Amino acid sequence: AMVITAGIGIDINGMQSIMAPAIVITGVLFAVYSTSYIDELTGLPGRRAYNEYCAQLSSDYTMAMTDIDHFKNFNDTYGHDTGDEVLKLVAKIISTVGGGGRAFRFGGEEFVIVFDGTDKESTIEFLEEIRIELEKTPFTVRNKENRSKYEKTGKKMPQGPSKTVNITMSIGVADSKKDNDPAKVMKKADTALYKAKNAGRNRVST
Ligand code: GH3
Ligand code: MG
Ligand code: MG
Repeated sequence: AMVITAGIGIDINGMQSIMAPAIVITGVLFAVYSTSYIDELTGLPGRRAYNEYCAQLSSDYTMAMTDIDHFKNFNDTYGHDTGDEVLKLVAKIISTVGGGGRAFRFGGEEFVIVFDGTDKESTIEFLEEIRIELEKTPFTVRNKENRSKYEKTGKKMPQGPSKTVNITMSIGVADSKKDNDPAKVMKKADTALYKAKNAGRNRVST
């Protein structure tokens, strides 16, 4: 066998017997990491990643809780699968948030954005940006059933093969100024979200 590092004396065969399992193990670890930290539907980090991120936050930070408006209505009208497509769109927009915000899928239709080292006043412009981006992005509902039905008859569909719906979200914001326990800040953000909903939705409240 060929000696590549004379002093240490590891040969090519020896390297291969180390490297092959190492690559496999790395792959397995990555898969385990992905499935427990990354949300499958949206590709965003999930609850577990959120918990770990919270554990290493500095003492000054802001949390924003986002929640899709009237999403139950949407699911009831267009079906759960189409609702899942909405969640993907919302996640994609939320993940573009500026100001150093990190987005997580907290659960269901709720996403949380954490801004480490930032007070709540400074995050509003970045939250408004994603709220407006969602508001102005039309969501196309693809009506597969109707489309195939009309394609067979050769007739034109009454409202075209698809329609668009406007999706909005409400956002509640709180920071760690008075109490920097992440669970408490989250609770405050949730209270602010409730305010945003009551004030008419599609807005950011503190
Ligand atoms: P509000 O404006 O007050 O937030 O009204 P809402 O209908 O969005 O609120 P509610 O909490 O009553 O409903 C949330 C809905 O979100 C209910 C549930 O069907 C839907 N939902 C939660 N998780 C998922 C998901 O993973 N996929 C889909 N398609 N729907 C989900
Ligand atoms: Mg909700
Ligand atoms: Mg909702």
